[in-house]
Amino acid sequence: MSTPDFASLGISAPVLKAVQQLGYEQPSPIQAQSIPILLEGGNLLGTAQTGTGKTAAFALPMLSKLNEKQKTPQVLVLTPTRELAIQVAEAFQSYAKHIKGFHVLPIYGGSDIGGQLRGLQRGAQVVVGTPGRILDHLRRRSLNLSEVTGLVLDEADEMLRMGFIDDVETILSKTPDSCQRALFSATMPPAIKRVADKYLGDAQQVSIENKTKTVERIEQSYLMVKGHQKMDALTRILDVEQFDGMIIFVRTKSSTLEIAEKLEARGFSAAALNGDLTQALRERTINRLKKGQVDIVVATDVAARGLDVERISHVINYDIPYDNESYVHRIGRTGRAGREGKAILFITQKEIRMLRSIEKSTRQTVSLFNLPSNEEVSGQRVAQFKEQLVGMSKSTKLDKFNSLVKEVAAENDIDIALLAAALAYEVQKDRPLFPKLVAIDTPRAAANDRQDRSERSERKERPKHDRAERPERVKGDKPSRERAARDNAGGDDIAMVTYRIEVGRNDDVSPKNIVGAIANEAQIDAQFIGHIKLYDNHSTVDLPEGMPKELFDHLYKVRVCQKALKISVDNGTAGEQRDARPAFKDKSGFKDKKFADKAGKKAGFKDKAGFKEKPAFKGKAGAGAKSAAGKPAAAAKKAHRGQDGEVRKPRKRPVTDRK
Ligand code: AMP
Repeated sequence: MSTPDFASLGISAPVLKAVQQLGYEQPSPIQAQSIPILLEGGNLLGTAQTGTGKTAAFALPMLSKLNEKQKTPQVLVLTPTRELAIQVAEAFQSYAKHIKGFHVLPIYGGSDIGGQLRGLQRGAQVVVGTPGRILDHLRRRSLNLSEVTGLVLDEADEMLRMGFIDDVETILSKTPDSCQRALFSATMPPAIKRVADKYLGDAQQVSIENKTKTVERIEQSYLMVKGHQKMDALTRILDVEQFDGMIIFVRTKSSTLEIAEKLEARGFSAAALNGDLTQALRERTINRLKKGQVDIVVATDVAARGLDVERISHVINYDIPYDNESYVHRIGRTGRAGREGKAILFITQKEIRMLRSIEKSTRQTVSLFNLPSNEEVSGQRVAQFKEQLVGMSKSTKLDKFNSLVKEVAAENDIDIALLAAALAYEVQKDRPLFPKLVAIDTPRAAANDRQDRSERSERKERPKHDRAERPERVKGDKPSRERAARDNAGGDDIAMVTYRIEVGRNDDVSPKNIVGAIANEAQIDAQFIGHIKLYDNHSTVDLPEGMPKELFDHLYKVRVCQKALKISVDNGTAGEQRDARPAFKDKSGFKDKKFADKAGKKAGFKDKAGFKEKPAFKGKAGAGAKSAAGKPAAAAKKAHRGQDGEVRKPRKRPVTDRK
């Protein structure tokens, strides 16, 4: 099967130029299938997960069709999380770098709405946002969708899982009928199919074939590692793994060069193999690998096609392949001629689905790779050094050196062993025998996640009315699996205080708006937000006892559905006593310090506090302030980067929600 190149797909010249500069050699399968459909104006239903190149699959054709003169939004992309919104916006920016006057605007909850309003006023052709915040802008009339010509729902199943599907439908209903629509989802649960049927009409379907492939004699493992630590992880593996020849697969031409260079600088013999090299040069590199003149080849898929070198004992998938077929091709570069081979796959947290799909299609388990520890690296280096030293002392005539060392020892009255140690140190200076390696964060989440997700998929989607009412229903709710587990692990309840907020049903508020606003603004994990009750003109919400004063003052002013919360302690006087404030024991933190510890343990918080106070204030409470548990605000914020900040229902049930 021949894969078309980007130029023949028909994307516009400036977009093509950007893609080439990014070092993309050929479209991924999902791109090859989707781009022509979207360029022709068809609707598209794509089954694709992160790692398949799905972002470019919709971004490239939509950018190719952009009307540079139109300043109102032309393309709207909905994403489930703020991280993805930022990532997609960045991808658009990089593909549009040769389009003059191009603006993309990411819009998500938890960030300053003023900046977003200004951005929208300035004009952006592409808006990428999370559903709640997009709806917010629609209500404020700050976002005009009347001239949108392209709409993308990215990771639709995640949006469903996070309870956004109703918001998504509302947004869909506000886009022009003529607008082209594309939906990408890793799975196609019935609720997504229903939305697709309703809003995408006779969309063309694309997916990556999932044929079963057999892989034998190849020991497969994976390592979950953050993108910026891949190089460190790789060098650590190279240090310890006994390999003969190795091929490292990356996605772009530029990465082949960059990684080969870095490996060379670290003392490995490596060469790049990419589509920019002439056929003659490619063959030369492969011959050098065959002859052992080079041990590691860093290649793109295109360049490594058909590569058959017996001595390849290891394949490292530094960047995950786009599909299972290509994974099987790649790892098939090892285990040649009846030999054994090893394949190690690097994945980032977001690529777990790809891993599972690979396992499914190969019907084999890819086991977790244990990254060698400092001690193992050291042990390996020492062993190699010893071997080298002993070999050298046996094979080489060293008479003169022997005398020299004895002479130095005698002249300076130094023990010969000490002199040998100095020489060993000198020889190994660039590759220390006792290195202090950088810490590499390798979450072992994939195994858990696998379990987690299969549990999740077992869980039936809740019916629509149930989802909408869930937070109000919490009183009589049955414990969820998650909660049951937590209950068993935890023990004591956390003391809660009921607060009153001045926004209610008449303002169209929903429990998820309240959870979202409080979780974002107060940086309280949603699981600490308890029972919520909606009344016509106000609502009540249970929050952990001991709210810091600064937080209270801040929440007082926070606006939800365009109304200030004016939070007060609910004393059951039906709104008579507007300004009731909690008893603040001290300025700095919790009234009950025990709460912080208990809550921290239950939630696994780094800062051991239910309230992650300062970062939420966005300067209001002073930069660099410490949290109640004494951790710097920035650190606390970092620990909670994963939270998407969207106004939504709690994914975990409130701790107080136990009966
Ligand atoms: P995605 O699946 O959209 O999250 O993309 C995953 C990664 O693949 C991103 O880092 C993209 O920059 C990269 N990528 C997407 N398409 C290509 C391509 N055709 N060639 C090389 N890299 C690509």
